[in-house]
Amino acid sequence: MVQLDGACHCGTITLHVQLASPAGSYTPRACDCDFCSKHGASYVSDPQGSVRITVAESGRLNRYRQGSQTAEFLLCAHCGVLLGVQYQESGLLYLSINSRVLDNNPPFPPPQSASPKLLSPQEKTQRWKALWFRDCTLQLPEHDTGSQTENTA
Ligand SMILES: [Zn+2]
Repeated sequence: MVQLDGACHCGTITLHVQLASPAGSYTPRACDCDFCSKHGASYVSDPQGSVRITVAESGRLNRYRQGSQTAEFLLCAHCGVLLGVQYQESGLLYLSINSRVLDNNPPFPPPQSASPKLLSPQEKTQRWKALWFRDCTLQLPEHDTGSQTENTA
């Protein structure tokens, strides 16, 4: 397991990621939708790995939907950094993270362009369920109870 940490710019939201393989064996995906292009996002996920996102302050996690409205982008409400994207189905959480927020510039290969907007809604969600993290924890502050989401793999 490869352990990687990351955070938004102001440090309110932190990420702990475990990858099953070395960073060099992944292919980051640069989604070509308007939203991800504007952020320069480069997504990495691993269905054999895990991700834990911790939000240190109440109200600091922004969720944003666009395009087909199926997935929710996770942004810091304070500094605006895009941390990743989540999809929920049947009570399960799937996550893909923006590798740009990881510390120490892990040696991922250059991102390859991806065009999820060309897929049907069903193709898209099947792809996400196959490729994204399944062992996901989104830890919100205590006063944000009700919106805490956790999967146990
Ligand atoms: Zn921030």
